[in-house]
Amino acid sequence: MDYCKICGEPIWASDGKHRCPPKWEIWDDDNRGDEYAIVFAHDAEAAGAKYAEESDADDRVLLCDGEEQEVKIREAGDEEWRTFFLTGEVTSLYHALEKKNV
Ligand SMILES: [Zn+2]
Repeated sequence: MDYCKICGEPIWASDGKHRCPPKWEIWDDDNRGDEYAIVFAHDAEAAGAKYAEESDADDRVLLCDGEEQEVKIREAGDEEWRTFFLTGEVTSLYHALEKKNV
């Protein structure tokens, strides 16, 4: 599988014309000194969720332990920031494994 070098999304072989989703800038007072993070996503909420997943994976914040994080998000090129609260939750996965009779 090939991944886009710009946005990181998978490029499907049958889909010859990949277009990157819009680019978002995320300002995070807690974790970024004086630079914003860049995230590619289809809307501001998805960009925030993607950023939350990445920063939670870094163990910098503990969103899945009930913590909430405030960030500012704007589409690249826009002047105005919008404020979002990032939260997280742990989900359960269920499986069925067949018992084989030998
Ligand atoms: Zn792309």
